[in-house]
Amino acid sequence: MEFSQYNVNSLMYITPRPELVFVEGKGMYLTDHKGKRYLDYLQGWAVNCLGHCPDVIHDALVTQSKKLLNPSPAFYNAPMVEFADLLTKNSCFDRVFFTNSGAEANEGAVKLARKWGQLNKNGAFEIITFDHGFHGRTLAMMSASGKPGWDTIFAPQVSGFPKADLNDIASVEKLITDKTVGVMLEPVQGEGGVIPASPEFMQALRELTKKHGLLLIVDEVQTGMGRTGELFGYQLSNIEPDIMTLAKGIGGGVPLGALLCREEVACFVPGDQGGTYNGAPLMAAVGKAVFNELNKPGFLTSVKEKGEYLSQQLEKLSEEFGMQGERGFGLLRALKLGDNIGGKLVEAARDMEPVGLLINSPRPDLLRFMPALNVTKEEIDELISMLRVVIAEVKKSDAGK
Ligand SMILES: *Cc1c(COP(=O)(O)O)cnc(C)c1O
Repeated sequence: MEFSQYNVNSLMYITPRPELVFVEGKGMYLTDHKGKRYLDYLQGWAVNCLGHCPDVIHDALVTQSKKLLNPSPAFYNAPMVEFADLLTKNSCFDRVFFTNSGAEANEGAVKLARKWGQLNKNGAFEIITFDHGFHGRTLAMMSASGKPGWDTIFAPQVSGFPKADLNDIASVEKLITDKTVGVMLEPVQGEGGVIPASPEFMQALRELTKKHGLLLIVDEVQTGMGRTGELFGYQLSNIEPDIMTLAKGIGGGVPLGALLCREEVACFVPGDQGGTYNGAPLMAAVGKAVFNELNKPGFLTSVKEKGEYLSQQLEKLSEEFGMQGERGFGLLRALKLGDNIGGKLVEAARDMEPVGLLINSPRPDLLRFMPALNVTKEEIDELISMLRVVIAEVKKSDAGK
């Protein structure tokens, strides 16, 4: 089929998209409308933690869709209860509320914190968030995010999200007032360009929030579910937060998220929180199946090993081309290009023949890699050799100008 046969103008224009329509995916590969294959280091934006179309998700969807799709959120269903139980048994949290996206989970976290502030801190409601942080695209989450420009595009903002600087504990301390109820951050800023909060900073933040009686909220929409080599990113710094949000990897490709908290913080009463699809069995069954894969003996060790291998290979590539190294945890990594050639590399990689490569440039001087967590060493080698070709090509054409 030709691209012109698709009437893409029936869709709202929200982002420039290449003239490609993807029709199939398996593991680390996607196939477009012309049958061209792509090695996919986006994986639905760090979503497909087991790669495209894994059998476990197919099986869970088929089995559950024959049994029960949605009995209504007013009743318990088996996958919802069982999956919540798995999450609490494998984390420091005691209670779960399922959502349909990351932004929705974060909205829930803010509501929970504000409710807790009404009950315990004289109505304190401010949540300190961070410059360059990303928490989603609802009105409140755009206000909580620290993305340049987001403070004005849909003005007025939802108030109550003062911004501190990541890895600067004094900048957090300075913002604490009697209106503060908590601090919210990503253990690794993903959209901001794979910028890790240091373990020392996370530990200092836990101490500071404890000292002032504040809630520590971790947005693990990108870092959770094994992405960093630990099941959850907070485990990298050996701390226990009060609230955590999950999405992306938790569904392995289907819309699912979760809000988790410790028992002392679980202060919602009937009427405070809900939603038609929240905890519906079809997606919860997928979440449970994905979780059981991630939780198999040796799985997270292999994520760490693959992360280490990817890190070494990127470092070598960086030396070869005189770039500025790489950073990240596990299989969430970025290559520091040293030049603003990210956009050109993304396009040149995609256009490679006969097999294209899909990568992301969250900032012009950076490439981000978010492969499936079961990516193979061979697929990492393939990435590196494809990158070597496009970097040389783009650098050469830049030098020729
Ligand atoms: C992607 C992301 C979100 C938003 O999740 P959606 O499912 O797109 O709403 C929130 N926080 C972080 C850290 C993310 O990476």
